[in-house]
Amino acid sequence: MLNFFEEVALPVSIGAFGQQNTMINAIGVLTSGGDAPGMNAAVRAVTRAALNKGIRVYGIRRGYSGLISGDIIEMSARDVSGIIQRGGTILRTARCPEFRTEEGLQKAAEKCRELNMDGIVAIGGDGTFRGAADLSRHGIKCVGLPGTIDNDIACTEYTIGYDTAMNTAMEMIDKLRDTTASHDRCTVIEVMGRRAGYIALNTAIGVGAEAAIVLEENYDLDEIASNMLATKKQGKSHFLIVVAEGVGQTDVIARELQEKTGIESRVTVLGHVQRGGSPTMRDRVVATEMGYYAVELLAADKTDRVVGMKDGKIYDVDIQEALSMQKAFPERKYKMLYDTAF
Ligand code: ADP
Repeated sequence: MLNFFEEVALPVSIGAFGQQNTMINAIGVLTSGGDAPGMNAAVRAVTRAALNKGIRVYGIRRGYSGLISGDIIEMSARDVSGIIQRGGTILRTARCPEFRTEEGLQKAAEKCRELNMDGIVAIGGDGTFRGAADLSRHGIKCVGLPGTIDNDIACTEYTIGYDTAMNTAMEMIDKLRDTTASHDRCTVIEVMGRRAGYIALNTAIGVGAEAAIVLEENYDLDEIASNMLATKKQGKSHFLIVVAEGVGQTDVIARELQEKTGIESRVTVLGHVQRGGSPTMRDRVVATEMGYYAVELLAADKTDRVVGMKDGKIYDVDIQEALSMQKAFPERKYKMLYDTAF
């Protein structure tokens, strides 16, 4: 009988970068920084895409900490079975201050050489990419994949985990609407996003909230309050206001809106529930596309690249360029929320 994995585990394959005679023996894959649903789908894709090119794969546990301490396991195709639908990351994640030191980086590079690991796919945010860039200066090829629920990575329109987090927030706020409406209240909901208001803006649109309060835009509570009072006169009985975590003023906003309108205003902080759960179809598919692309890059001997999405297509960009980019906040979408809210 034909053994599929043996049959396809050849050192030569044809990918987006043409016919490849890869010199890569083994790669490592790690997840670092904040976890995000879909990271497992990316780990699965990296593992199987590499194995099918005849490249061995190591799973590095707890991000760069595991690379320094040697918490590393060789992965087979079966080790990533049944994980595509699971939230979190089977490799675990950690923050590793030691990796920011020269000594830590040298230990990590030494561990890679010991295992004959030529390259690494690092799944995480900007911090993870900075670490990857540092490691590549020590001779290890590195490719970054954007994994964060916040979508706060400038070189990509989309990050793994973003869609699941927004859908979770939407489901929670739909439930909150029921009780908010029953009591003729206002609920001020804090969603995640320490540095970015993308979850807040899109979730506010998706649940039909009256306002999204984000770091990127000035907000005027007097205006929101007067809109609330004007529409209350026309029969509107309840209100939803979405606030991004990074604004850091959720309690104050609720208190001031209550004082200005006389409408009872309560706070709900959604918190880490937004990080968990089974990834949506979109996150699973994008994570797979990005993981597959990352392996093609390493197999083609590329390094210092970040995989992203541009105009809906998967592409790659230099890691330093990626780290220096700025992401624009979608002004038109923000205006649209307010133009359709009251
Ligand atoms: P994220 O990747 O989600 O932005 P962090 O900022 O916590 O999360 O970064 C994850 C890990 O990447 C850190 O714990 C550290 O090990 C590594 N890292 C972050 N910044 C740097 C840096 N400037 N140089 C080297 N490594 C870094």
